[in-house]
Amino acid sequence: MARFSFSGKTKFTRIAAVCLMLILLLYIIATWSEDKKRHFSDSARNEPQLVNDLGNFEPRNVKPREGPGENGKPHILRQDQQNDADQSETEYGINIVCSDEISVDRAIPDTRLPECKYWDYPKDLPTVSVIIVYYNERWSVLLRTVHSVINRSPKHILKEILLVDDFSDKEHLQSYLDNYIERFHGVVRLIRNTQREGLIRAKSRGAKEAKGEVIVFLDAHCEVNTNWLPPLLAPIYRDHTVLTVPIIDRINHKTFEYRPANPPHTHYRGIFEWGMLYKETEVPQRELSIRKHNSEPYKSPTHAGGLFAIYRKYFLMLGAYDTGLLVWGGENFELSFKVWQCGGSIEWVPCSRVGHVYRRFVPYNVGKLAQKRKGPLVTINYKRVIETWFDDKYKEYFYTREPLARFLDMGDISEQETLKKRWNCKSFEWFMQNVAYDVVKKFPELPPNLHWGELRSGAVSKCIGTLGFAPPSLITIQHCHGFGSNQLMRLNTKGQLGVGERCIEADSQGIRLAFCKLGRVDGPWSYDVNSSKLLHRLRNKCMALHTQTLDLSLMPCDINNTYQQWYFKEIHPKW
Ligand code: UDP
Ligand code: MN
Repeated sequence: MARFSFSGKTKFTRIAAVCLMLILLLYIIATWSEDKKRHFSDSARNEPQLVNDLGNFEPRNVKPREGPGENGKPHILRQDQQNDADQSETEYGINIVCSDEISVDRAIPDTRLPECKYWDYPKDLPTVSVIIVYYNERWSVLLRTVHSVINRSPKHILKEILLVDDFSDKEHLQSYLDNYIERFHGVVRLIRNTQREGLIRAKSRGAKEAKGEVIVFLDAHCEVNTNWLPPLLAPIYRDHTVLTVPIIDRINHKTFEYRPANPPHTHYRGIFEWGMLYKETEVPQRELSIRKHNSEPYKSPTHAGGLFAIYRKYFLMLGAYDTGLLVWGGENFELSFKVWQCGGSIEWVPCSRVGHVYRRFVPYNVGKLAQKRKGPLVTINYKRVIETWFDDKYKEYFYTREPLARFLDMGDISEQETLKKRWNCKSFEWFMQNVAYDVVKKFPELPPNLHWGELRSGAVSKCIGTLGFAPPSLITIQHCHGFGSNQLMRLNTKGQLGVGERCIEADSQGIRLAFCKLGRVDGPWSYDVNSSKLLHRLRNKCMALHTQTLDLSLMPCDINNTYQQWYFKEIHPKW
C-alpha cells in the first residue's frame, strides 16, 4: 500500500509543498473570517438611498377599493347587530362582528412620513419568514393579518408565512384552515404545538422551524402597511446583529379604524420603569441628530415585544428566548438586553408601519401553564430577566418597586449566565450609560423603601387600596387581601407613597391615586413608628379614616385617635 510520504522528493519540492499548504491554510482562514464578518456585519454593502422618483419597492397602480372598513375607515354596525357585537367583544376583547364584515384584503391609509416613498433599498435583501403565533385567534382577524402580508410584501423576499398554532381548540382553526391556506401555494405554512406552550415558547419554536434568513414576528391581529418590509430588512442587511422594529399603528378593537398612535413627525422609542412596565418616550435629540433624514431608523433601548425582525441565525445564536420564561411578558426585555449587552443593537424604523389591534383585555387564560410556577407569572419572568441582565445596583431598584419579587422562585438561570459569559456581554451599567440614558430622566434611581406591605388601619380590620389603576381614582379602605398589588404600598426614604407605578396624593377633597410626577421619586409623606401616624408634611395633617363613613381624608393630627393609626404589614409569601 502506498504510504503518503515526502521521501524520494527533492528538498525544493518539499519546501514548495509546505509553502503551498501554508498559503492554502491562510486563504481558508482569511475567507472564513471574511465570511463570518459578512455574516454578522458588513457596512460596505449598499445603503438605502433617498431618490427623486418613487422608491424601487413602492407599489405602483394601486386600485382604489370601496366597502366596509376600506381605507381604514371605522366600520359602524347597524343597530340590530349591536347585541352580537357586544357579546363578541366581551368574549374576545375584539368586535368580531365588525371584523367579519371587512374584507381580508382591505386597503389601509399610508401612515408613513411622505419621505418614506422615496427610498431605494438594496435589491438582494435577505429572504423572510413572517412568523405568526396564535392561540384561538378569530378567523377574519387572523386571515387579514396573513392577507396583508401577502399583499404588501415583495414576492421574492417573502419566503413564507409560518403560522404557529399554540394548541388552539377552536373548530375553525383546524382542518378548515389547512384547506384555506392551500390557495397560497405553499407560501403559508402551518405548524401546530401538541400542547399549549405560551407565546414565548411558540415564537422560539417558529424561529427554529423557519426557512427564511430573517424572521419577522407579528401578532395574529395585525395589518402590515404599504412597503413595510424592505425598510425593516435594510438595517439587518447592513449588519446582521441589528434587531429592527416597525412603528405600530392602532386598529380600533370596536370599529377596526386604522390610525397612527402618534403623529408621524414625532419619534418615540421603547424604555421601561423599574417595575419593568414597558413605556415609550420621545427619542432624545442625541439619537435623532445622528441621522441625515427624519425617516431613517433610530436606536432604541427596547421594544414592545410583539412585532420585530431579526436575523434568524443571530436570534438562535443568542439562544432564542430564555426557555424559563413562561407564557407572556418580559421576553421583550430579555431579548433587548441580550442584544444590546452582547454586541448587537435595536433600531426602530419609521418607514415600516404595522397596525395592531389592542384588545380590551387578554381573552385567554394560561391554564396548565401557570401550574409550572408558584406566584404571579409575569413578575417571575421579570425576575429572571433582571437577575440575568441587571447589575446588583439596578436589581435593587426592581426589588424596591416590586418588593414581593424577592420571594418568588424564578427557577434556574444558569444557562442564561453561561450564555452571557460565552458572548462576553457588557454590563447593565454600560447599557444604561450608552443606550438607555434617557430612562433615569423619566424614572430616576429609586431610593430604598422605609416601609412596605399592606397598610392596615389601627381602628378597623381593613387595608388601604385602590379601586383601579387609572388615576384619578379614589383610595378606599377595603378588606385586606394579602398580596394583591392594589394594596401593596411602599413608603420610600424620600416620602413618596407608591402603589404599583402610581403614587398616593392628598388634597382637601380626599386621598387619591395619582400619576407619580415624572422624574421625581420624592413625596410629602412621613411615617412615625411610635405613634403610627402617616403625616402629610406639606399640609401638616394626618391620614385619617372617617369614624362613620370610613372615607379616607387628611385630618388635623391627633395622637390618641386610632382612626389615624396605620401599620405597614410586610407580606412574605411562601409559594
Ligand atoms: N398567543 C399564543 N399563545 C398564548 C398566548 C398568546 O400563541 O398562550 C399569541 C396570540 O394569539 C397573539 C400573540 O401570541 O397572536 C401575542 O399575544 P397578545 O396579542 O395577547 O399579546 P399583546 O398584544 O396583548 O401583548
Ligand atoms: Mn397583540
